[in-house]
Amino acid sequence: MNTPDEIKALSDEILRLKKEKDALILAHYYQRLEIQQVADIFGDSFELAKKAKAAENRLIVFCGVSFMAESAKILNPTKKVVIPRADAGCRMANMVTPEDVLKLRAEYPDAAVVCYVNSSAATKAVSDICCTSSNAIKVVRSLPNRRIIFVPDKNLGAYVAKQVPEKEFILHSGFCPTHRNITADEVDRARSEHPGALFAVHPECEEEVLAKADFIGSTSQIIDYCVRTDAPEFIIGTEVGVVDRLAFYHPEKKYHLLSPWLVCSDMKKTELSDVLRALETESSEVVMSDGEIEAARLPLERMVAIK
Ligand code: SF4
Repeated sequence: MNTPDEIKALSDEILRLKKEKDALILAHYYQRLEIQQVADIFGDSFELAKKAKAAENRLIVFCGVSFMAESAKILNPTKKVVIPRADAGCRMANMVTPEDVLKLRAEYPDAAVVCYVNSSAATKAVSDICCTSSNAIKVVRSLPNRRIIFVPDKNLGAYVAKQVPEKEFILHSGFCPTHRNITADEVDRARSEHPGALFAVHPECEEEVLAKADFIGSTSQIIDYCVRTDAPEFIIGTEVGVVDRLAFYHPEKKYHLLSPWLVCSDMKKTELSDVLRALETESSEVVMSDGEIEAARLPLERMVAIK
């Protein structure tokens, strides 16, 4: 844990070096607050993917987990993309393989494969289109196919299936271990401790938790909901980084993290000293072959093209 003085010194050096190296720092909302604060752009996976695609800087420093940095490289392959912690992966992304998708395709040849961006480039490459939690419903509705194979998140898939009842869904069995941890009992307890607070939750949670929500949305949508809604108090059912951000930038309202388990250990691996090292050494670079990039590009481009 850095002291405020150390955070200031590290941040100043990062900001100086960022300019000198013509670097763009992107940070996910689940990153530590001090990292979001040195970033040029912060957001959810969809916003970051769009910004990475449009980036004109020589160097992109992606503060998040590896599938996000990989997506940035795929969408903007001429840029050098580095991730400060190469060991920051996503446990959900590791739950699905290209072989799983190919098996489902063989079983349901008329279905379109919708792949949550929380997946490897190899899995994206055998899918038809990607989605994030903010655009999954739009993505599914944009497809002519009645049958949808949704990988890897079964909770997001089930949530989308409820919103698009005219389609038939085949769900993979993956899940986010961080969001899956929380229970409906915790929601009841939080509601009794904070009567009157509105409950906003991420669709990666279990259905019984979503059923108790006042609002369901991606990280950006949850932040937007808390800021725009006229209520003074919220219970937040997503990673703690969202609560940290809301509490810092909108202190006029109260936010309660639903459960102490809502911490993604991979997202929290990155520290300011890692960001500084990434800028100094321009590593760890995301290295992908032209073939890997080309194979995964189309499903991501199709997603970004949806308004
Ligand atoms: S919060 Fe869940 S889905 Fe997001 S990076 Fe962490 S493990 Fe993966």
